[in-house]
Amino acid sequence: MAWDRYGQRKPTGADLTLADAAFARTCPFSPAAGDEDAIAAARFPAAPHVDARLGRYEANYVGHVAEGEFRAIGSSGGMVSWVAAELLRTGAVDGVAHVVPSTDDRLFRYRISRDAAAIAEGARSRYYPVDLAEVLAAIRSTPGRYAIVGVPCFMKAVALQRAEDPVLAERITHLLGLFCGHMKSAAFVDSFAWQLDAPREEVRAVEYRRKDPGRPANWYTAHLDLADGSSRSQDWWHLADGDWGAGFFQNAACNFCDDVVGECADISFGDAWVEPYSSDGRGTNVVVVRSAAIAGMVADAAAAGRLALEGVDSDFIANTQAAGFRQRREGLAYRLTWAKRGIRPRKRVAPGAAGLPWRRRAIYRMRAGISRWSHRMAWAAKRLGAPALYVRWARASLYLYQALAYHRGRLGEWLRRFDGRE
Ligand SMILES: Cc1cc2nc3c(=O)[nH]c(=O)nc-3n(C[C@H](O)[C@H](O)[C@H](O)COP(=O)(O)OP(=O)(O)OC[C@H]3O[C@@H](n4cnc5c(N)ncnc54)[C@H](O)[C@@H]3O)c2cc1C
Repeated sequence: MAWDRYGQRKPTGADLTLADAAFARTCPFSPAAGDEDAIAAARFPAAPHVDARLGRYEANYVGHVAEGEFRAIGSSGGMVSWVAAELLRTGAVDGVAHVVPSTDDRLFRYRISRDAAAIAEGARSRYYPVDLAEVLAAIRSTPGRYAIVGVPCFMKAVALQRAEDPVLAERITHLLGLFCGHMKSAAFVDSFAWQLDAPREEVRAVEYRRKDPGRPANWYTAHLDLADGSSRSQDWWHLADGDWGAGFFQNAACNFCDDVVGECADISFGDAWVEPYSSDGRGTNVVVVRSAAIAGMVADAAAAGRLALEGVDSDFIANTQAAGFRQRREGLAYRLTWAKRGIRPRKRVAPGAAGLPWRRRAIYRMRAGISRWSHRMAWAAKRLGAPALYVRWARASLYLYQALAYHRGRLGEWLRRFDGRE
């Protein structure tokens, strides 16, 4: 795996096309691979609930870790790090592959952690390209049982790899999924540096979501540590590309994903983006449990007061991810009507745009355009040594997007009237 010019991880060397049967069976976006429904049916045949949005599950919760520092150091309620540490503590696994800061050619990379202190080093969300190549090689070469933490397409990729490779099937025993809106490229960090007036080559560490218990959880703050020991911070809403919904630096593959909640994973975790939780700066998880063994582990810890969790239904979970489901279901159906050439993705959503209002169509078109052009504009700005080229373009795009999506600004006001809303 190596960096492409847009700051995304890509396979090199091998000529990977769908003509390669093993690749076609294991790439999570391949039309020849099994889909999330088939994988989950094979992994969790006895799961008592099936929901079109969440997949198969045993139980759903909202809450946070009550014991230790997990919540304070986590991006959300600390549940991912707690489950990883608990699997290690109880001997259910020998190692957990997750993402930790790095100081070489990458700011973050997958690593296998083997104790609670090492798990804590990886806490927090990294909206940064990573790949599994090294940890899968390490798992193949070192016997033991492993858990892997990852976004939905990584969970699906590992599940498909397990079906091909008996060694991985035996050793990778647990999948811990992260809900996902989309993956960003490494150029997002370049953009932070440009907008926070920091030389990019001086950036040593990035925090995408610095936590402040005194402010709402959904007020994200980007934080950079620089080589000279100084640091820079800025709230996302002051950034030209800080509106998650606008899709800046989104990986192209995310346009063809229909899994918001990691349906192939034994347990998945997200943020409770509904009130009163989104106003609580300490962070709150939503959790979907799919495997019976992990359901027992979580229920026992909640009963013992180690976890502060409340059972919720599937609508509650889906509502916390309303925008993600719109983009991955309604938006995906519409995007599938655009694809005229090349590989035809096979998704669980049928192509179609019937009844989709003009404004929703325009939002999906604009978001896809911003995603595609943000890569090119940031690349050009970097090549020319002219960050303003990107930042001005991004500000103008954001203005148009927010006028369309939220009727913000003068243009938004005009669109509201055009829309017949006021
Ligand atoms: C790209 C991305 C998009 C996301 N989109 C959404 C969304 O739309 N809605 C939503 O509710 N939640 C989303 N999440 C999940 C959310 O950010 C939190 O990770 C989740 O709520 C868990 O919080 P926590 O406090 O329990 O985790 P923590 O205790 O902070 O632990 C996080 C764990 O995840 C690992 N990790 C961090 N980044 C990555 C990565 N890129 N790949 C693999 N492992 C990683 C860390 O190493 C750590 O072990 C996203 C996460 C990522 C990485």
